[in-house]
Amino acid sequence: MAKRDYYEVLGVSKTATQDEIKKAYRKIALANHPDTHPNDKEAEERFKEASEAYEILSDEKKRRNYDQFGFAGVEGAAGAGNYSNVYRDFSDIFGGAGGFSDIFESFFGGGRRGASARSGGRAGSSLRYELTIDFNEAVTGCKKEISFAHKVKCETCNGTGGSGRRTCPTCHGSGQVARGSGFFQVATTCPTCQGTGSIVDNPCSSCHGSGTTRKSEKLMVTIPAGVETGSRLTLRGKGDAGENGGPDGDLYIFITVRDDKYFVREEQDVYLQIPISFSQAVLGTDIYVPTIDGTELKVAIPAGTQSGKILRLKGKGFPYINSSQRGNMYLKIVVEVPRHVSLKGRKLIKELADELGESERPTPMEYED
Ligand SMILES: [Zn+2]
Ligand SMILES: [Zn+2]
Repeated sequence: MAKRDYYEVLGVSKTATQDEIKKAYRKIALANHPDTHPNDKEAEERFKEASEAYEILSDEKKRRNYDQFGFAGVEGAAGAGNYSNVYRDFSDIFGGAGGFSDIFESFFGGGRRGASARSGGRAGSSLRYELTIDFNEAVTGCKKEISFAHKVKCETCNGTGGSGRRTCPTCHGSGQVARGSGFFQVATTCPTCQGTGSIVDNPCSSCHGSGTTRKSEKLMVTIPAGVETGSRLTLRGKGDAGENGGPDGDLYIFITVRDDKYFVREEQDVYLQIPISFSQAVLGTDIYVPTIDGTELKVAIPAGTQSGKILRLKGKGFPYINSSQRGNMYLKIVVEVPRHVSLKGRKLIKELADELGESERPTPMEYED
């Protein structure tokens, strides 16, 4: 049978925009979808024809080849009833949440529909693991054992799910069906095959046909030095196993770093507030301050240091991940005023005041944070 021109199939002009092409296809696909027209061969043909046309025209590169060389330009790219990869765009076409749902579902179960259509099997879900570590573990890096449960390939059936696997008759392999009526149809997971696109006649007794079983696992994870709250590690393929040859999901480790009592972190820099006495500030001195490495650092306080002065200690902050570079440490000097003074102390301070001179009307100074 001679093939109809793809533009003619969708009823759009040769200069149609992607939006027009999508709209035209959506209309035809909804009107002829096999789920809403069971056993209607003509509707199925129209559906396949439109799907093939859409697959080519929605892809700029394939569309260019088709425009230039006709069907010969896209041979093998579509056709032979193989319109399964068109379904990759179905959540989009049928008003699904698109990219967002892809990310969302991959974290919270449900599988990645997109990947499933491309590979023929359903992709395993990616999993999220929350890991809290101590402040100093983030400085040095650490190893942590985590235990989690994920789906693995069923050992009884070696992941096949059983014998007699065939394309799901309800969704024709897409794993999705259209629900609702008229314009407001949305794609949902096929209830017959649970989105896998195929069913088995003799399901495996261990996994009931899914090809995967749940398993608890312990893993030793290496946390690099320098991580902060919100850092994410990816363990490729350690999420749920894919079904029917679909790719395995990943395991994402989301890190939370506990606060330190004194050190405040700002990216790779750290801030520390240190009190000194009035006389130390006036005369200058050497003090010893703790670092995030657990060592002590000798710091020279210059004579005449004002309260609030910030000293920079270069390279004493957090290490950058996988780098020998480090952030800085900032030391905020606070001149402490004694709250309780002995009688002798009061006398000496009064003497000092007479020596230094005081004003009842101090001159304002420029405001500083
Ligand atoms: Zn099994
Ligand atoms: Zn199905």
